[in-house]
Amino acid sequence: MSLGRNLTRLETIWFDYSATKSDYYLYCHNILFLFLIFSFVPLPFVFVELIRSASGCFDRYKIQPKVNNSLSDMFRCYRDVMKMFIFVVGPLQLVSYPSIQMIEIRSGLPLPSCSEIVIQLVVYFLVEDYTNYWVHRFFHCKWGYEKIHHIHHEYTAPIGYAAPYAHWAEVLVLGIPTFLGPAIAPGHMITFWLWIGLRQIEAIETHSGYDFPWSLTKYIPLYGGAEYHDYHHYVGGQSQSNFASVFTYCDYIYGTDKGYRFQKKLLKQIKEESKKSNKQNGGEKFD
Ligand SMILES: [Zn+2]
Ligand SMILES: [Zn+2]
Repeated sequence: MSLGRNLTRLETIWFDYSATKSDYYLYCHNILFLFLIFSFVPLPFVFVELIRSASGCFDRYKIQPKVNNSLSDMFRCYRDVMKMFIFVVGPLQLVSYPSIQMIEIRSGLPLPSCSEIVIQLVVYFLVEDYTNYWVHRFFHCKWGYEKIHHIHHEYTAPIGYAAPYAHWAEVLVLGIPTFLGPAIAPGHMITFWLWIGLRQIEAIETHSGYDFPWSLTKYIPLYGGAEYHDYHHYVGGQSQSNFASVFTYCDYIYGTDKGYRFQKKLLKQIKEESKKSNKQNGGEKFD
């Protein structure tokens, strides 16, 4: 009645669902969403990896095709992530509610429009990407790497389940860049859920170890993707390249993508030269 109009169908569903629930309870839905995302989103990549190991048929999409992961390897990673989820991620969600209250994430009506949701999500991704870049760079100093970040780098050829695989302190600290966007442009609880979910799905794709040409994320301007972040893991602890979590612009601006660009150029040259020499050899055969 206070909206001065009839509720839309979506608003009615939201009202029926949320009216009797506290904001704290709604906020804690993120625990369930994160559990589902951590458990099920990497699964298609597990099947692809198992099929590839057995038949080699996805070889050309695997970024580091010499590395094979068995089912038990991948399950071990999932088990470690679940331990971290139970002892760090879940409790962090349970106790971080006052911060959500402080920035005034709303859960009432009206629901945000699609354009409002999209604009806020873009802001969140940009803010997180920029802040995460600097935090990640800090983790690559001698102290940060040896004490904390080396755990995330145990996977030199990452897999989907390894996206949230990190030291508990890293999980806690990286919560700050995730929270900053909503603090700057607070929105609706639904936008907040979407943000937390999409950011993790993006991280899983980025750590999948596969670069599929049909991935929809290829259409996002300046998007890094799996091949981009894979290079960061491939180089390992010495890596001073490709720090950004989502986009490529920070590494470009601050000059931390030079090693990656050089390696890409080199690989392209080698490929072209071997193509040329194959052609010549073929030509000689037929002459
Ligand atoms: Zn790193
Ligand atoms: Zn990573």
